[in-house]
Amino acid sequence: MAAEVLSAAGLAVTVYERMPSVARKLLIAGRGGLNLTHSEPFEDFIKRYGPEAAWLRPMLEAYPPAALVAWAEGLGEAMFTGTSGRVFPKAMKASPLLRAWLARLAAQGVTIRTRTEWLGWEAGGALRFQGVAGEETVRPDVTVLALGGASWPKLGSDGAWVPVLEGTGVAVMPLTPANMGITIAWSETFRERFAGEPLKNVTASVSSGIGPHVAAIRARGEAVVTAYGLEGGIIYVLSRMLGRTLERGGAPVMTIDLRPELVVGTLTDRITLAAPGQSTTNMLRKAAKLSPLAVNLMREGIGRELPREPAALAKAIKNVPLQVAGVQGLDRAISSAGGVTRGAVDEALMLKARPGVFVAGEMLDWAAPTGGYLLQASFATGVTAAKGALAYVQAASQR
Ligand SMILES: Cc1cc2nc3c(=O)[nH]c(=O)nc-3n(C[C@H](O)[C@H](O)[C@H](O)COP(=O)(O)OP(=O)(O)OC[C@H]3O[C@@H](n4cnc5c(N)ncnc54)[C@H](O)[C@@H]3O)c2cc1C
Repeated sequence: MAAEVLSAAGLAVTVYERMPSVARKLLIAGRGGLNLTHSEPFEDFIKRYGPEAAWLRPMLEAYPPAALVAWAEGLGEAMFTGTSGRVFPKAMKASPLLRAWLARLAAQGVTIRTRTEWLGWEAGGALRFQGVAGEETVRPDVTVLALGGASWPKLGSDGAWVPVLEGTGVAVMPLTPANMGITIAWSETFRERFAGEPLKNVTASVSSGIGPHVAAIRARGEAVVTAYGLEGGIIYVLSRMLGRTLERGGAPVMTIDLRPELVVGTLTDRITLAAPGQSTTNMLRKAAKLSPLAVNLMREGIGRELPREPAALAKAIKNVPLQVAGVQGLDRAISSAGGVTRGAVDEALMLKARPGVFVAGEMLDWAAPTGGYLLQASFATGVTAAKGALAYVQAASQR
């Protein structure tokens, strides 16, 4: 994005990419439909960035979700907003968008050098790269670093830049997994039968702490059963709190409400009115309209013997306890938290320790849930860094 803004302003831009092709993570995000941004009101939207919202606000106001949608449409991608408010290309993939984008960058004169890894700086200040033909140095007028976080390192972003920047006096918070799946010790039969199946319209909640300091998080939506546990939007919302509890030696239990739209009383009445003498499984399927996955999830969490008494069964439907054994690491996390701190850059995202070097994207120290917030902030910070870089070059040429 920074390359697009800078080349549109007339600068000669070269993008250096260590992998054989660019934007691999964007393409993988496309596997899930490419949730580019979110359509909720801006004041709700900005809150998703938690403590970093104040920092990101001017950048997201300058390049809001509507601007990103218009950008994608300008590249020929028809967009749509799902019932959840999340915004996707109608094609539900990233490849056509990426093709059109790369064609635009080429038309604007951007050179892309793949298989060329940035290593750091020479003592004299030139950028050092490792290319296929060996090491080379470059001394540009201005630099934008957009090296990503450290999740899914096989796609290219491995966080190897952290010690390089720290060595030059830049404060970096450690890169830790964010938005990750969780590990649950499923029984063999449950795993074999349900791995890959979605658990729709449920609420997951978790609480942490003791007495008056208890914090609770709840998320409603969909989760997907995997061989090792659960993935999906509602799991990602809870994953950081679960990870912290596990780090402190705790044994967190996540509670699933399988019928969040019904109160216990209504469910109890429906079960009571169901034909007596039915098996518990039939009762759950017919009176509570639970799927085979939901019924078996209850047995995984509660045990083979479910309560028979209607009120107790209704309560159980709304409180399935799942013992969380672990959280997925950086290899499989959707994103990483941590990165270059707010204090290490100015409001144009220029490194205070390295004038003329700007930073954008997930390598900055902000975090957000899934839902389009990650790409939106990556794009918006890319625009901010590019505008800062342009102003820097213009000021330098007047000196
Ligand atoms: C499976 C998955 C699904 C996702 N789905 C979504 C989604 O639907 N919506 C959403 O908002 N977000 C999603 N994300 C997150 C989103 O893709 C990232 O937050 C976003 O791509 C970050 O952009 P970035 O440009 O900062 O970093 P990246 O996209 O990681 O790009 C950084 C680039 O820098 C290159 N690089 C790194 N180090 C060097 C070096 N030393 N020299 C040269 N090149 C280097 C890397 O190879 C990489 O190509 C998803 C992530 C994953 C893993």
